[in-house]
Amino acid sequence: MRPPQNVAVVFHFVLSLSELSFSQFPRACTSADTLTRKECCPVWNGDGSPCGQLSGRGSCEDVSVISTPQGTQFPFSGVDDRENWPAVFYNRTCQCNKNFMGVNCGDCRFGFIGANCTKQHMSIRKNIFDLTIAEKNQFFAYLNLAKYTISENYQIATGTYAQMNNGSNPMFRDVSVYNLFVWMHYYTSRDTLLGVSGVWTDIDFAHEGPGFLTWHRAYMLLWEHELRKTVNNDNFTIPYWDWRDSQDCTICTDEYMGGRHSTNPNLLSLASIFSAWQVICTRPDDYNRRGVLCDGSPEGPIQRNPGNQDRSRTPKLPSSLEVEFCLSLAEYETPPFNKFANYSFRNTLEGFANPGDGIANVSQSSLHNALHIYMNGSMSRVGGSANDPIFLLHHAFIDSIYEQWLRRHQPLQMTFPAANTPIGHSRDYYMVPFIPIYRNIEFFVSTRELGYDYDYLVESVPPSVSAILAFYLQEAKQIWPWLLSAGVVGCLVTALLNCIIIQNCKKKEISTFEERQPLLNTRDEYQGVSYQTSI
Ligand code: ZN
Ligand code: ZN
Repeated sequence: MRPPQNVAVVFHFVLSLSELSFSQFPRACTSADTLTRKECCPVWNGDGSPCGQLSGRGSCEDVSVISTPQGTQFPFSGVDDRENWPAVFYNRTCQCNKNFMGVNCGDCRFGFIGANCTKQHMSIRKNIFDLTIAEKNQFFAYLNLAKYTISENYQIATGTYAQMNNGSNPMFRDVSVYNLFVWMHYYTSRDTLLGVSGVWTDIDFAHEGPGFLTWHRAYMLLWEHELRKTVNNDNFTIPYWDWRDSQDCTICTDEYMGGRHSTNPNLLSLASIFSAWQVICTRPDDYNRRGVLCDGSPEGPIQRNPGNQDRSRTPKLPSSLEVEFCLSLAEYETPPFNKFANYSFRNTLEGFANPGDGIANVSQSSLHNALHIYMNGSMSRVGGSANDPIFLLHHAFIDSIYEQWLRRHQPLQMTFPAANTPIGHSRDYYMVPFIPIYRNIEFFVSTRELGYDYDYLVESVPPSVSAILAFYLQEAKQIWPWLLSAGVVGCLVTALLNCIIIQNCKKKEISTFEERQPLLNTRDEYQGVSYQTSI
């Protein structure tokens, strides 16, 4: 691997095994001992106890896998390491208390920072075109750093549990921070290896089912979290690309995600740092034929040829109207909970249903899928799509649409399907391949509960009654001295005017009385409306 090209960023390698947090596979849990005991409860160095138990951070607990009936799409049992995740590898993991999180409870849960994870921290994801030049350059420098920095804490599995001889012969390998996430996206969507029987391809733990949006939300949060630790910057957020109504790939320039190569339209311009990146996990047919997993070896440069896609499948980039129609669909998911679901918000946003009427149409690739197809290269095949950093910008925007839908429709948790989904997509299934473990339903909540928001959605949150009261109380606090002094001045002026008027009236009354003595009797009757002009 090449060294980092851009070292303009000041970063700190403060990572240590005590700061373990997420994902497949914690280095501390890849030994033959932990694998055969099926226990992943690493020590938190803050107090030297597993899961930081002595400090009350968490404890090592049995994993309760809720085995709900899955759909019929996967007619096997006991053949895939991802079944009942993470039971094949571990049946005991750290369960963290309060705001603690991570594989050893050494981290803070999303939206909290500080030594004791008590400080709330809200992050805002911004439009990439609204970043300052410094922010933009920092983002690219971080990406490049992640691409070339070996993960201190995690490794990837290069074999199945069976190939590891049920854990007694561990098969793991180092990987860079960026490639760790490419590999995870591959691992969750890969085919099932069936040995001599070949492979089963109709399986995907993160796509084509209700878990599509929850899985990618968790994935992006974990990606962001991991990068923050790598560069020691809690304020880092992934920007998004708002592609609505774009006529072409507006971020495909050397200033942003890389322009087109001068002679090869399938490659990136040499002026872009991303042209030097090597992809991994892009050859599923090869792995299937050999019966192996992607091992993270470099497989050539990023490929991208935006706009020269199969136009019969994806004629253009999605429009605002299509997004708006998708948002109007009231049901998150509908049977059969897969790519054939009609009027399903998830299936329409994912891109298997027509964004004009919500009817499933797998011959077309719309919305989310349209972008992948449009890029016509590394992005266009599921297993290797995260190799192109455009993946992050695209999925940040998809996540923002998901967030708009959640805010508009305020769904109950029970509307997320609990059973009969494709495998991995039910409400309480632990998402593959995250360790520590998270259920789909934990990400069926507003981004505000997870500590982040989108710049263009911040104002759209309907204010609660308490928020409105708090606002007016705050306003009242600021203006009460003015109100008080205005009141005092007003009273004084009124009193003064009254005195003047009374004095004048008295004078006038005296004179009137003297002048018009004959009308006096009628004045008492005036209150009864009519005048009597004279006696
Ligand atoms: Zn994906
Ligand atoms: Zn995608």
